[in-house]
Amino acid sequence: MINVNTPFSNKNDLIRYLDYNKGVLGIKGVIKMKRDLMDILCCPMCKGDLVLEVTEENEKEIVKGTLFCGKCTEYYPIDDGIPNMLPPELRE
Ligand SMILES: [Zn+2]
Repeated sequence: MINVNTPFSNKNDLIRYLDYNKGVLGIKGVIKMKRDLMDILCCPMCKGDLVLEVTEENEKEIVKGTLFCGKCTEYYPIDDGIPNMLPPELRE
C-alpha cells in the first residue's frame, strides 16, 4: 500500500491516485467521505458499485456509515468521516 500523507485537494488527484493504486484504495486516513465521492468509488475487491448507508452526516461530510458492495456482499465502514476501503484482510 502507498502511504499518502497529503489529503487530495480535488477529484482529479484522487482519480490519478486510484489509477496508480490499481483500484486497491489505500486511502484510509486520507480522504473524507462526501456524497460526490460515490461517483468514483467502487468496491476494491470486485470493482462493483457501492451502496452508501449513512448513519451520521453533517453539512460537509458523511461522518458515520457503511459502503456496501452488493456484488461480493462486502461492507466498508466509514468512521470519523473516513472511508476504510481496504480489503477486509488488510484492515487492522
Ligand atoms: Zn465487491
